[in-house]
Amino acid sequence: MNYYSTNNKNLKVSFREAVMKGLSPDGGLFMPELIPQLDADFINNLNNYSIQEIGFEVAKLFIDNEIPDPDLENIIENAINFDAPLVELDNKLSILELFHGPTLAFKDFGARFMARTMSHFLKDSDEVVNILVATSGDTGSAVASGFYGVEGINVYLLYPSGKVSDIQEMQLTTFDKNITALEIEGTFDDCQKLVKSAFVDNEINSKMKLSSANSINIARLIPQSFYYFNGYKQLKNRSENVLVSVPSGNLGNLTAGLMAKKMGLPIAKFIGATNSNSVFTEFIRSGKYEPRPSVKTLSNAMDVGAPSNLARIQSLYTDHSIILKDIASNTHNDDQTIEMIQQTYRKYNYIIDPHGAVGMLALEQYLAEEKLEDYSAIVVETAHPAKFKESVEDALGIDIKLPEALQKCISKEKKTIKISNSYSAFKEFLLNT
Ligand SMILES: *Cc1c(COP(=O)(O)O)cnc(C)c1O
Repeated sequence: MNYYSTNNKNLKVSFREAVMKGLSPDGGLFMPELIPQLDADFINNLNNYSIQEIGFEVAKLFIDNEIPDPDLENIIENAINFDAPLVELDNKLSILELFHGPTLAFKDFGARFMARTMSHFLKDSDEVVNILVATSGDTGSAVASGFYGVEGINVYLLYPSGKVSDIQEMQLTTFDKNITALEIEGTFDDCQKLVKSAFVDNEINSKMKLSSANSINIARLIPQSFYYFNGYKQLKNRSENVLVSVPSGNLGNLTAGLMAKKMGLPIAKFIGATNSNSVFTEFIRSGKYEPRPSVKTLSNAMDVGAPSNLARIQSLYTDHSIILKDIASNTHNDDQTIEMIQQTYRKYNYIIDPHGAVGMLALEQYLAEEKLEDYSAIVVETAHPAKFKESVEDALGIDIKLPEALQKCISKEKKTIKISNSYSAFKEFLLNT
């Protein structure tokens, strides 16, 4: 299978090149030149397959023979070594919990698969790849955890000193081995600038191989389609009208769901749920894409003003009217998010995090407007509520227990290297490692 750039359909590369490059040189995102179709038999018999087996069947079609089957099986078994259960709230509404990985957010699926895929491609060379990640919190820990102990790869996490939450900092700074946390005296934008400058610095690039691991890598997208199949498989009460609401920021999660639908998964409608950063909702309603600076909300992993995967969604459809057949979108603010956390707890005794709550809100509005009677709805829960302990505790007036994975970090020592936000200091650090 070849991958094209969303900026130029004629620019095509192999899967390996798409993964190792991340972004196309022309600034476009890589997309598979066709969306493979799964056998109807396979879809009808999903119950017979584990999430890892589903993952293998799906990934194989995207990768062809660029990774031998036994190696691909291994990658998936090591990457997806946790569950993605569907929890029924009532006979029409279920929550797809994607937070059972090591960093308690759905990004573990993509980061762990990408890490092992890159390591596979580097296996027979003595090349060492250095991954630079600027992070405002969540992405950094998923990437670090995904690459932890993976051969041939060093990871440098740049985060703004004093500007991530305590829990996030613990998750970023308690690794060892091939992961190094760099505490930058500056903002997230400064971190991003340092990384970008390093990528275009000839001296650095002649001495070390740099790569990025951000959310636009195709190897993060493919494994995110696995859990839609696995979620559908677990639906007990399957109506013709299966609705899936996806809390959305950069739209990677939603794009992976749309790809699953194109592969043959019978989902009637996706609902892209946005917080006050509603650029995507406005795009769906007006057909116009008008990016703008992001604003801070309680569901901060969705605070995106220029969602990069929109280019991929557009490449999946020929026309806006066809997009509207598959996708709806609604937007809600922080006050509504808090109310929904409370309502979900009251009604179902279920603790939902702020991102999942935005998903619940978008679904609720969709059902009210469409006046649907017969449906089965799935809300994707992207993070464990303990990751957003303060807002959830404030909303509900209860204590949220930290899961084991987080408790483990608390007892570990914080290890960082402090660097000023000047590029010369960062460059000196890189050249001396
Ligand atoms: C990253 C993230 C999102 C947004 O996902 P996209 O793929 O960027 O749309 C939603 N919720 C949580 C908890 C996240 O970490």
